[in-house]
Amino acid sequence: MTVPTITLNDGLQIPQFGLGVWQVSTDDIEPAVGKALEVGYRHIDTAAMYGNEEGVGRAIAQSGIARDELWVTTKLNNNAHGFEESQQALKDSLGKLGLDHVDLYLIHWPLPARNDYVDTWKGLVELQKQGLTRSIGVSNFQPDHLDAIIAATGVTPSVNQVEIHPTFTQTALVAKHQELGVHTEAWSPLGQAEDLRNETVTQLADKLGKTPAQVILRWHLQKGYIVFPKSVTPSRIEENFQIFDFELTGDDVAAIDALDEGNRIGPDPDQFN
Ligand code: NAD
Repeated sequence: MTVPTITLNDGLQIPQFGLGVWQVSTDDIEPAVGKALEVGYRHIDTAAMYGNEEGVGRAIAQSGIARDELWVTTKLNNNAHGFEESQQALKDSLGKLGLDHVDLYLIHWPLPARNDYVDTWKGLVELQKQGLTRSIGVSNFQPDHLDAIIAATGVTPSVNQVEIHPTFTQTALVAKHQELGVHTEAWSPLGQAEDLRNETVTQLADKLGKTPAQVILRWHLQKGYIVFPKSVTPSRIEENFQIFDFELTGDDVAAIDALDEGNRIGPDPDQFN
């Protein structure tokens, strides 16, 4: 089973599908990442904030998979905003991961009231120049935050990782990404499992002989989003990977598009500081 790749605005190819490890404990992290790599996942989405970079690194080392076959994303923690702070923050993450570079480094949250995300972005531009990260992007940035960092540096982030799932589709933000050439990464792609119970989703799953999770993840793929559902359950890690051998029709995609009800689960980035 081959995972499709997406070509980012810096020319790098990112696997469109991976494993997310938010809220994965120290005990669970190595077996979960190990299982995913065994199944065929080649993209892991972690963050300094998740406190599990060491376990991700150990699982990668134990897998024996060549470094250039893997895509590792980590994120700058909210307490490390600022140009100087960002330089040390990525070095700390690399030490924990046991890697000499990551593939993608993101500013985790813009924290607009602190008004230092532009300086932080300049820090990421420098880290990319030094080769400590191949690609740089942001997370939870609103349109005005994207405009501000691009205006200040001339460097467009490769991705913006934002909350998107069937009941929270963020179409205006996605349109802004398309206008700027920023790829959309969809966090909480299953709506933290809430959207799996949606009746339209369960009916589509019955019709297609797939599970609700597979239907939602397939919708993300066909929308062009990069996704990394979280699970520590081996059977679900396998189930979530079985999405490359079927397709939703245009009507199926439209039926899921219509489920948006503004159901934001996480914090509002404009208010989060
Ligand atoms: P998710 O939408 O991936 O849902 C995870 C939940 O769904 C878990 O409780 C899991 O047990 C359940 N689940 C997974 N597969 C299932 C299946 N096949 N059947 C039934 N239940 C299943 O939620 P998430 O973890 O919030 O998001 C995924 C990843 O996105 C995170 O792990 C993290 O990497 C990233 N993320 C980023 C941010 C950010 O601010 N940048 C915020 C949240 C999440």
